[in-house]
Amino acid sequence: MAMVKSLKERVFNFSPGPAVLPVPVLEEARDELLSHGDAGASVLEISHRSSQFSAILADSKQRLTDLLKVPDSYEVLFLQGGSRLQFSMVPMNLLRGAGSADYIVTGSWGKKAVDEARKEGRVNIVWDGNKTHYNRLPQASELQLDVNAAYVHYTSNETIQGVQFLTEPDVSNVPLVCDASSDFMCRPLSIKKYGLIYACAQKNAGPAGVTVVIIRKDLLERGSDDLPGYCNYRLHAADNSRYNTPPTFGIYIVSLVAKWLSDEIGGLAAMERQNRQKAELLYSVVDEDDFYIGHAQPESRSIMNVTFRLRNDDFQAKFIETAEEHGLYSLKGHRSVGGIRASIYNAIPIEGVIALRDFMLDFRKQNG
Ligand SMILES: *Cc1c(COP(=O)(O)O)cnc(C)c1O
Repeated sequence: MAMVKSLKERVFNFSPGPAVLPVPVLEEARDELLSHGDAGASVLEISHRSSQFSAILADSKQRLTDLLKVPDSYEVLFLQGGSRLQFSMVPMNLLRGAGSADYIVTGSWGKKAVDEARKEGRVNIVWDGNKTHYNRLPQASELQLDVNAAYVHYTSNETIQGVQFLTEPDVSNVPLVCDASSDFMCRPLSIKKYGLIYACAQKNAGPAGVTVVIIRKDLLERGSDDLPGYCNYRLHAADNSRYNTPPTFGIYIVSLVAKWLSDEIGGLAAMERQNRQKAELLYSVVDEDDFYIGHAQPESRSIMNVTFRLRNDDFQAKFIETAEEHGLYSLKGHRSVGGIRASIYNAIPIEGVIALRDFMLDFRKQNG
């Protein structure tokens, strides 16, 4: 068998998703892989109803609840199907039979969420950033929200364009639904502002295959009995995320990530400070002159996905290639935006961001 690559061979991985995980999480998962606790078997091999897995599920839920200070009036669910399935499940449960839902579209993912919601009911796009290539957020004054809407949906961080809300849009009493896939747990959240928040784990919270949904309990009642069972939030809540076999390994890794966030990072406020510092290191280079040109406007830009291009398009490929020679990987922007995208999720160490910043400075000096 091939030797395991040593840690020194790990690159700085700026992948947008599935993305980097904290090394202590990978180490713990490795150490426990053959036998979990006293199970005598791997977490991959035990029943989702075993006492050992029950403890993992309870631990994962409790850790998320503690980190995010989730109130009792909310349910934390672990589902499959990624955020794509949430694009459908949200309107299946909350829009069917209701009047209409408001959608704020600040990038590619929000647009896809609209396409799915339209299959379930009436959608009002209250704001769409497409006219400026999704490079900015709406001003509060630009949002004409319907007070009778079933809910308002928005994407807290548009992973492809690198546009992130600093805080939740004000929707008064209408339930706020958030796709938080790519910035979940990058900072503290005020959960009580939300009706429902969902996040596939593979950007910032764990591996592909598990999606966290936090839903206000009264909204569970909105799902009709006619829905496909898997798509009904109420059934998942009633069975504590074991309506069917849940993504057991994913739930386990999410618990390790949550443990890392609280025990090693010191919680979400500390994580946010680190994330802001990391983002600032890169944006300060982008802002220095016009060798690099940021995609998002400064007041709308993301601390998770830093998007920019090079003034001279011809240097784009060279930048990506040379970066790899320096151990800096997965920097190619999404094909719809082009340029460079550095995804600097929670688990990217500051050393990786400093290495990228230094590379950017050096590349500019060589090619400017
Ligand atoms: C990645 C991503 C999705 C899609 O997630 P899947 O798990 O592939 O369905 C949706 N929304 C946002 C904001 C994302 O970053």
